[in-house]
Amino acid sequence: MSELYTKTLTEMAGLLQSREVTVAEAVKDCLDRIEATEPTVKALITVMSDEALKQAEVMDQEGPDASKPLWGVPIVLKDLLVTKGTRTTCGSKILENFVPFYDGTAVVRLRKAGAVIIGKANMDEFAMGSSTENSAFFQTSNPWDADCVPGGSSGGSGATVAAGQCFAALGTDTGGSIRLPASFCGIVGLKPTYGRVSRFGLIAYGSSLDQIGPMTRSVEDSARILQVLAGHDPNDSTSVDVPVPDYLVGLGRNSLEGTTIGLPEEYWGKGLDNEVEAACKAAIAKAEALGAKTVPVKMALTDYAIATYYIIAMAEASSNLSRFDGVRFGHRNKDAEELIDMYTSSRTEGFGDEVQRRIIMGTYVLSSGYYDAYYNKAAKVRRLLREDFEKAFEQCDIIAGPVCPTTAFKAGDKADPLQMYLMDIFTISANLAGLPGMSLPVGLGGDSGMPVGLQFMGPAFSEAEMLSVADCLERNLEPMPMAKL
Ligand code: GLN
Repeated sequence: MSELYTKTLTEMAGLLQSREVTVAEAVKDCLDRIEATEPTVKALITVMSDEALKQAEVMDQEGPDASKPLWGVPIVLKDLLVTKGTRTTCGSKILENFVPFYDGTAVVRLRKAGAVIIGKANMDEFAMGSSTENSAFFQTSNPWDADCVPGGSSGGSGATVAAGQCFAALGTDTGGSIRLPASFCGIVGLKPTYGRVSRFGLIAYGSSLDQIGPMTRSVEDSARILQVLAGHDPNDSTSVDVPVPDYLVGLGRNSLEGTTIGLPEEYWGKGLDNEVEAACKAAIAKAEALGAKTVPVKMALTDYAIATYYIIAMAEASSNLSRFDGVRFGHRNKDAEELIDMYTSSRTEGFGDEVQRRIIMGTYVLSSGYYDAYYNKAAKVRRLLREDFEKAFEQCDIIAGPVCPTTAFKAGDKADPLQMYLMDIFTISANLAGLPGMSLPVGLGGDSGMPVGLQFMGPAFSEAEMLSVADCLERNLEPMPMAKL
């Protein structure tokens, strides 16, 4: 069977269970696709061909296992999820040779469900960025247009799924890093509620914001992955012990009757590109035609979200990244003659410009003279922002708006870091409030021909409802084509 790569994860899992396709065939098809498309896309830092082929051979001998929902399905991980025996770089020179001795919880759960991990995806260094241009190794291209960025920071994960190199990838989202690349690459991306998925074995950026989530070619695929990932983990004290619902039962609806969608004025106004607005509005009109009611809601603090997010994220990053000192973790300068010099030179050589900028800023906002003026104030605004959401959800079940004001931009176009930060305006609020958000591809921009993503945000632990609404819309919109490569 050729062109397996055009299948969804759901279809592929079915073909593997029924033995119409062997695990070896599925893995080889992905490896062939990687070979054919990587010279253009450059999505992967590490391809795990040998391990994957070996695992496939063993699995084919044992035969399918119906209790394992991802049995034999090739999957890629963002390269900040630690993998036992496989290099995990976090997109940074400082971890260029870091080989972890354990698998993170998300990885353990995928493997238990039968998934075959075939590669580690490129990313902005330490997940800091919106375009994957901050990777210390190379830039990833958007499969729809190689001159454009795939979004970030999970740009490798977005590009590998859009290019058909695997059937799903995991990304992480601190301020939009699953939803933005999903939007730019024309795929589905879901950031779960904070605490829904264990962060154990995820190299931390902003610990109070980070979440792991699926990036896939259909809503149902994301539901299947979330089902495997979700749930309490004693190894992560912020993972929540709330029962995991069945994410698949709400799928397959053909009506949105009874659903109220809130449209924040602040998300649909100034600064939004016409083609993004047109594609998102057409999707909302479709939701209305399917029976959904729409109401305007207010997210009055949106203007403060970027400043608030960057203070909190940088503060947490400066603290999290202190462990990379050349002693406990990371690259060590061997020529340094004394301790302080060794720390300084190792970190100077190991961290890229953006990471250094954020460590310096984060240290500044936490310093005793400025803590109240910056960090404390940001923490207060964060609380108010959450209240904005609570008020909005008194009027609606789910909020919808664009993921990003623009479609994928050209590499090099946002050389000014502040311009890059503005890309996150619509995504960071969900992280600050700890709420789930997802990106659904709703068509191609009329001017650029590049994918447009519609964002949904919901109350805490409303992933099942969100997936149900997105799935209904997905099945009633024009099917999203795959990128031509
Ligand atoms: N672009 C944002 C940042 O650079 C978000 C990144 C992320 O979600 N990891 O911080």
